[in-house]
Amino acid sequence: MNKIIVAIDGYSSCGKSTIAKALAKYAGYTYVDTGAMYRAIGLYFSKLKDERLELREVDSEKLKELLSQIHIGFIQVDGAQHVTLNGEDVERQIRTLEAGNRASQISQIKEVRAFLVAQQQKMGEAKGIVMDGRDIGTVVFPKAELKLFLTASPEVRAQRRYDELVEKGEHPDFAAVLADVNDRDYRDTHRAESPLRQAEDAIVVDNSHMTREEQMEVIYGLFDKAVNS
Ligand code: C5P
Repeated sequence: MNKIIVAIDGYSSCGKSTIAKALAKYAGYTYVDTGAMYRAIGLYFSKLKDERLELREVDSEKLKELLSQIHIGFIQVDGAQHVTLNGEDVERQIRTLEAGNRASQISQIKEVRAFLVAQQQKMGEAKGIVMDGRDIGTVVFPKAELKLFLTASPEVRAQRRYDELVEKGEHPDFAAVLADVNDRDYRDTHRAESPLRQAEDAIVVDNSHMTREEQMEVIYGLFDKAVNS
């Protein structure tokens, strides 16, 4: 059967990865979580404890040299995808609120984006891939056969994020989670490098008031149509 590339973009915490994973399973495709890649780089930089990185005073050559020492991979653990950083499973470490914020900061750096975009494009060479992120339909795969742009209201997304953190045993403050969602939206849509925006040919799915089943029905339908066209 004709294999395609599915690009899924959208705001943070709007269920992109859950949807992308379910679609990859349905299609028998590889799923790539690009947010996890940015999170892993943020973690690497934070471990270096190089304050100049935070101040973005490191020159481009030094940054490229640092990036060349980073290897990001994906492994399967008990049926779930985990991200590895230079061979170490860092899945738990990258899923905190702090790691998300760090990822959002370092994702503004041009060299970081170029480094990851090149890897992501390579992963999609053979097609048969579902990739989610912020710039997949606009920069990574502008020719993707199916582009979805997911959205939900900030309050709905903050509630989902809050529930996830509680489930993990954390004790978040709802107002802080909502502020974080708004901050991240602002940074993701206003940065100079590849800001989050909807590709002109993307199909918008607002899932604020949709159940998971309703969403998946719509998305499976769009996928079937794209594969057969
Ligand atoms: O999707 P997730 O919340 O894991 O992404 C973490 C951060 O990484 C985002 O807030 C965004 O700033 C950045 N990101 C990006 N481009 C992508 C994926 C994620 O800039 N393709």
